[in-house]
Amino acid sequence: MTESSGARSATSTGARSATSTGARSAHETHDYDVVVVGAGGSGLRAAIAAHEAGARTAILTKSLLGKAHTVMAEGGIAAAMGNVWPEDNWQVHFRDTMRGGKMLNNWRMAQIHAQEAPDRVWELEEWGALFDRTKEGKISQRDFGGHRYARLAHVGDRTGLEMIRTLQQRAVDLGIDVYMECTVTRLLKSGDRIAGTFGYWRETGSFIQLNAPAVILATGGIGKSFKVTSNSWEYTGDGHALALEAGGSLINMEFVQFHPTGMVWPLSVRGLLITESVRGEGGVLRNSDGKRFMFDYISDYFKAETADTEEEADRWYDDHINNRRPPELLPRDEVARAINSEIKAGRGSPHGGVYLDIATRRSAADIHKRLPSMYHQFKELADVDITKEPMEVAPTAHYVMGGVEVDADTQAATVPGLYAVGEASGGMHGSNRLGGNSLSDLIVFGKRAGEHAAEYAAKQSTRPTASSAAVEDAIAAALKPFESNGGENAYAVQHELQDVMFDLIGIIRTGEEMQRALTEIEKFKGRAARVTVDGGRAYNPGWHVALDINSMLTVSEAVARAALERKESRGGHTRDDYPMTDPEWGKVNLIVTQTDGRIAIERKPLPQMPNDLMSLFEEPAK
Ligand SMILES: Cc1cc2nc3c(=O)[nH]c(=O)nc-3n(C[C@H](O)[C@H](O)[C@H](O)COP(=O)(O)OP(=O)(O)OC[C@H]3O[C@@H](n4cnc5c(N)ncnc54)[C@H](O)[C@@H]3O)c2cc1C
Repeated sequence: MTESSGARSATSTGARSATSTGARSAHETHDYDVVVVGAGGSGLRAAIAAHEAGARTAILTKSLLGKAHTVMAEGGIAAAMGNVWPEDNWQVHFRDTMRGGKMLNNWRMAQIHAQEAPDRVWELEEWGALFDRTKEGKISQRDFGGHRYARLAHVGDRTGLEMIRTLQQRAVDLGIDVYMECTVTRLLKSGDRIAGTFGYWRETGSFIQLNAPAVILATGGIGKSFKVTSNSWEYTGDGHALALEAGGSLINMEFVQFHPTGMVWPLSVRGLLITESVRGEGGVLRNSDGKRFMFDYISDYFKAETADTEEEADRWYDDHINNRRPPELLPRDEVARAINSEIKAGRGSPHGGVYLDIATRRSAADIHKRLPSMYHQFKELADVDITKEPMEVAPTAHYVMGGVEVDADTQAATVPGLYAVGEASGGMHGSNRLGGNSLSDLIVFGKRAGEHAAEYAAKQSTRPTASSAAVEDAIAAALKPFESNGGENAYAVQHELQDVMFDLIGIIRTGEEMQRALTEIEKFKGRAARVTVDGGRAYNPGWHVALDINSMLTVSEAVARAALERKESRGGHTRDDYPMTDPEWGKVNLIVTQTDGRIAIERKPLPQMPNDLMSLFEEPAK
């Protein structure tokens, strides 16, 4: 394994050479077949698959191995294994996923995902993951919003940690090269084809080039562009921006998921996630009058399958077949909007949220066993004992449904040799992702991406090579903030962008506000070009932020332009000026491309779902 902390030259398989055309340009290069950018669940699974397919494979990650965002995942992995409800199967999971995404999902991805998720979970178990068990000793499965049956395989509320631990151990066992604290700033090309990656070591600031005919982007989401978010510092949308810059396209960028339950207090932890498992385990939402308000917000779309009395809602936990789902377990977009409306109507909590109550619904022992992280999170950060008191919660920017447009079966982007997977890819979740469907997405499509990238690389009769001019250009772009004397501060631009995105392109949008956001983004672009960085290249966080801002601005503009274009409300895109869901808009995806730095949006008809799958939606929800 290659480590950035000093011993960074000890690669095991990558052919290595030093390229030196002068002090400024001196950098190391390595040759691979497949380079995976990102060491979260999707990147690790992709790298394992590529390696097992015989490709010389490397993983690059801008944080440490084991620290990727996936480690924060709490609630579980959605897979129709039928361990708790034998009635569950891939068809029901497929239907739930499509309905959760308001039918804008790529149907083929949703089908593959529902069909293959159980095998991928069992595979994790074979590789050593220790899931919670049912009384019969099967993998336990819990309830989550929008899922007809309890189907989330989990490890308490620390599922991501177990997933990362298992995949990381396997990747290391296989001897896959890992470049830690190494940030990719450019995709290199040879003609139309991908030729590798260019980036820098965060510790030393020196440059590194990995040559490879296939690159898989597994860089995660974009949440850091929003002031209030559950996301970690890594989520600056680098993969989305790298793909656009390389000639790829993005899909569904207008759809940003605001998770209903983020912490609101203390301010220093505002946005931190409270897992949906709290509601899955029976937690209910109340306003300042003590009212269980979700019964007032059941949309026509989900009326048939949602309980409309407290009695029926509560019976559901024991009997899913004869009762309808509690309204707290509607899909996230519905619950987030309801909370937002209660707060706006003045029925919020003292710190601007609503109440989430598990204390009166579960015993203290159950809470400690099933939600240990939540207990500690509130005790340590807010001095709230959730076994005795309710939590204060409000929506937080959480997940981007939009990502690199890929082929459903192979995860290939439109640029030859480029692949994308996990939160960096788009299409699978349509306009709204169901909880638990990300972790399953990572491992289902991670495997496929790795296999297909390896196959593609093996088929190339000549290795693509980036020109030295392209590399010089990447170096110049990376060093620009040191050479600029514009005097702008990277952190100031970043913070102001986060304010604009949260306030003007947040949970409820209007055309006028989005236009204003776009005007501000144009100004930020001008300021970003004038950012000046002091000091040297060795561990210089100001420089890192200066480079991250470029990705953040690109994805912010993509979100804003797509959101302005879609004149309806659907899933993670709610417009005050177009509050209805419009069937005509249900026929198209919006595709984002970039030419000479300018972003364009085009409409693309949804692929036609085959009749056998269509017929699943004619049956009553069971
Ligand atoms: C608090 C929280 C709880 C969640 N709980 C659940 C849950 O219970 N179930 C569920 O299904 N989903 C959950 N999610 C969502 C899910 O965790 C994420 O969508 C998923 O982990 C993303 O995985 P990934 O592999 O796409 O990316 P990540 O795990 O984020 O990995 C991205 C990787 O890319 C690297 N990277 C990024 N940019 C660069 C660059 N320029 N150069 C090099 N490396 C780069 C990062 O360092 C990192 O290694 C949760 C999310 C959060 C925030």
